[in-house]
Amino acid sequence: MRILVLGSGVVGVTSAYYLAKQGHEVTVVDRQPAAGMETSFANAGQISPGYSAPWAAPGIPIKAMKWLMMKHRPLVLWPRPEMRLWGWLAHMLANCTEDAYRRNKSRMVALAEYSRDCLRELRQETGITYDHREKGLLQLFRTQKQLDGIGEDTTVLDAYGVPYEILDPAGCVSVEPALNLVQSKVAGGLRLLGDETGDAYLFTQRLAVIAERMGVRFRYGTTIQKLLIEGERISGVLVNGGEVLRADTYVAAMGSYTPQLLKPLGIHLPVYPVKGYSLTMPIVNPDAAPVSTVMDETYKVGITRLGDRIRIGGTAELAGFSQRLRTPRRATLEHSVTDLFPQGGDVRQASFWTGLRPMTPDGTPVVGSTRYGNLYTNTGHGTLGWTMACGSGRLLADLISGRAPEISHSDLTGDRYRKEWRFHPA
Ligand SMILES: Cc1cc2nc3c(=O)[nH]c(=O)nc-3n(C[C@H](O)[C@H](O)[C@H](O)COP(=O)(O)OP(=O)(O)OC[C@H]3O[C@@H](n4cnc5c(N)ncnc54)[C@H](O)[C@@H]3O)c2cc1C
Repeated sequence: MRILVLGSGVVGVTSAYYLAKQGHEVTVVDRQPAAGMETSFANAGQISPGYSAPWAAPGIPIKAMKWLMMKHRPLVLWPRPEMRLWGWLAHMLANCTEDAYRRNKSRMVALAEYSRDCLRELRQETGITYDHREKGLLQLFRTQKQLDGIGEDTTVLDAYGVPYEILDPAGCVSVEPALNLVQSKVAGGLRLLGDETGDAYLFTQRLAVIAERMGVRFRYGTTIQKLLIEGERISGVLVNGGEVLRADTYVAAMGSYTPQLLKPLGIHLPVYPVKGYSLTMPIVNPDAAPVSTVMDETYKVGITRLGDRIRIGGTAELAGFSQRLRTPRRATLEHSVTDLFPQGGDVRQASFWTGLRPMTPDGTPVVGSTRYGNLYTNTGHGTLGWTMACGSGRLLADLISGRAPEISHSDLTGDRYRKEWRFHPA
């Protein structure tokens, strides 16, 4: 089958790899000059099935009010007259019930666990390297209240057999020795033993090279404008102001920009661009740097070792498609890392970056078929696109090839929005 994958982020490239592996003739189209140049470029580097959870959770509306007031706030909302934003927030609030949280977290953990296993298999098959480590993730709590609130999460982890340990401050230091310097700031931690770390950009770039060797074609510098329809099928993609690309099947994997492509077709995906920021700095003292990822729960900041660098990522800013780098956001990332790892890296040499997480209100991505017979989506991975990319790509390839997927997928398509929610953001 001839397949056009629209988007060469980590999600598009993994989709292309698995489709090519199953014998399809694949072309990937992207406006950038190379793969992984947008949201997949400098994320926090966590492959974290154990940490997979929707932001919509019981108690979040109250917590969000507090976060908005903090000096180093994990959440920033720019009130704008934007229907899409308010509709998306309303959907998210509707998912803050205990039932919805359990259901959404279960879906996410199942896909993320599968994805981590697919990644391990891919690594074995291809020998790909990307500054990766398999040393788990430490969710670090600075207060007893945070530690006491993990019951709902561990219930789901137990249900899915996800291995974890609850640690006291000394236990946290034993897995992350550099925390020794700041042990008095730590109330405890939840260690997720099966989580991994790695540079999503290196992975995407190198997997694109591997895919190319398998016969995948990459058309960079190509702006996708419109899907053309004939009856109930897609007949082509209009690109670069006039050229039409044609295939048998089309995969929309354009991250936060996917809704704009699908809206004229009457498909309303509630995917909002939730802006995040990262800092990447060189390690100056390896013993004072994190071993793996430390997730600072107070500021919702992930601090990850990637080779000889430390990547610090976080903040959820609701500001439309703006990619402006805002200094106060940098200050929050710097505060978290210098507070926990004061001697690990040189923050003066850090590079500052921002990206738009393609986020659904229930945290679960939108992977699978649409009402158009030859159009599929693979987007909406939000905070966990790196974690879920391989599993989503493999699942999608199986669906397109008519193979039975290895995990349940019926609740991953955009159909769930039609069933569960009363209105769609435009
Ligand atoms: C600060 C931050 C930290 C994060 N940390 C983590 C983490 O630790 N772990 C984790 O799992 N996830 C993390 N994420 C989320 C993760 O990075 C994303 O979910 C993931 O990168 C999304 O990948 P994607 O391929 O869907 O989108 P993208 O990488 O954005 O790819 C979409 C592609 O579509 C192309 N495109 C869009 N529109 C057009 C058009 N009109 N024409 C042509 N091409 C187009 C773009 O050029 C782009 O290459 C983080 C995100 C941020 C912002």
